[in-house]
Amino acid sequence: MRDADNAYAALPYSCRMSLGEFDLIAKYFTRSVKRAALGVGDDCALFATSPGMQLAVSSDMLVEGRHFLSTVAPERLGHKALAVNLSDLAACGARPVAFTLALAMPGVDERFLEGFARGLLALADEHDCELIGGDTTRGPLNLCITVFGELPAGQALLRSGARAGDELYVSGTLGDARAALEVFRGGLSLDGAAFETLRLAMEQPQPRVALGQALRGIATSAIDVSDGLLGDLGHVLRRSQVGATLEVDALPRSAVLGTLSAALQREFTLAGGDDYELVFSAPPGLAAEVHAAASSAGVNVTRIGRLDAEPGLRLVDAHGAALANRFGSFDHFKP
Ligand code: ADP
Ligand code: MG
Repeated sequence: MRDADNAYAALPYSCRMSLGEFDLIAKYFTRSVKRAALGVGDDCALFATSPGMQLAVSSDMLVEGRHFLSTVAPERLGHKALAVNLSDLAACGARPVAFTLALAMPGVDERFLEGFARGLLALADEHDCELIGGDTTRGPLNLCITVFGELPAGQALLRSGARAGDELYVSGTLGDARAALEVFRGGLSLDGAAFETLRLAMEQPQPRVALGQALRGIATSAIDVSDGLLGDLGHVLRRSQVGATLEVDALPRSAVLGTLSAALQREFTLAGGDDYELVFSAPPGLAAEVHAAASSAGVNVTRIGRLDAEPGLRLVDAHGAALANRFGSFDHFKP
């Protein structure tokens, strides 16, 4: 966008970005592209999809104070901004190809930009996902990434594919990011090493990209857990028109989370959020394939329940006794 098109054009030049928008893009966000036909520098980026493949597209925005705390290291923020987007591709079973970055920041802070770009591009390289364009403007710190992936046409894992009788699984562990947030909020105190482990889960989640792709043809539905297990699973149940019985004590948790009270463990695993694990369903006859997919991806998966024809979500403990569901999930516009 031309500067004259936005409100900041009225600012005296001295108040505007010192390094300059285009120098900044050139210095931190321009890299040669291998896969794309054209990357940063023109009006559009260009890339072709392989024959027989579908494009999977997703956007996620990170707003300071809402999605991250100002205390986060820039490198971790760069990682997380892309990780939450790659997690959506993972949930569909897509392979990452490219992404764009729309960035608003209050000014040019090169220490921030250097760390941010380092974290962002390291994760991009890990997943062979190229930065091909974006937009840069002055404003409250706000990061929006759009990610492009590809997958064989018709093979995407959808929220709508779950069937009664399927087993329900989750990758990794749940609740750590929520526990870290509670420490930041002052509601919980932990020793330094324990806190650092949780904080890493919150600030530097690992998107389950390999697992998502390995589950194509095995899982009947999938979603990534960003707003809490109960809420995200609820989306699958509604879209698939099935119910579920969830074994609350079977929910996988880290050693650190296991040191908290039973009540907090339940709350954080069920309704925490920011986990970026995959919840997915698969027919009972494919349990061996599920575990083979998980080990090929180097990720643990745990069976956590099953899908039922009866609508609604039922929580049970280790003995099969019903538990009350008093948990909500995160909604940006709920009062
Ligand atoms: P336009 O005026 O056509 O919107 P811009 O002048 O905003 O283009 O951007 C110039 C080039 O830099 C474009 O190729 C755009 O995709 C790229 N770009 C802008 N901001 C970023 C960013 N934060 N990261 C990567 N590429 C960017
Ligand atoms: Mg622009």
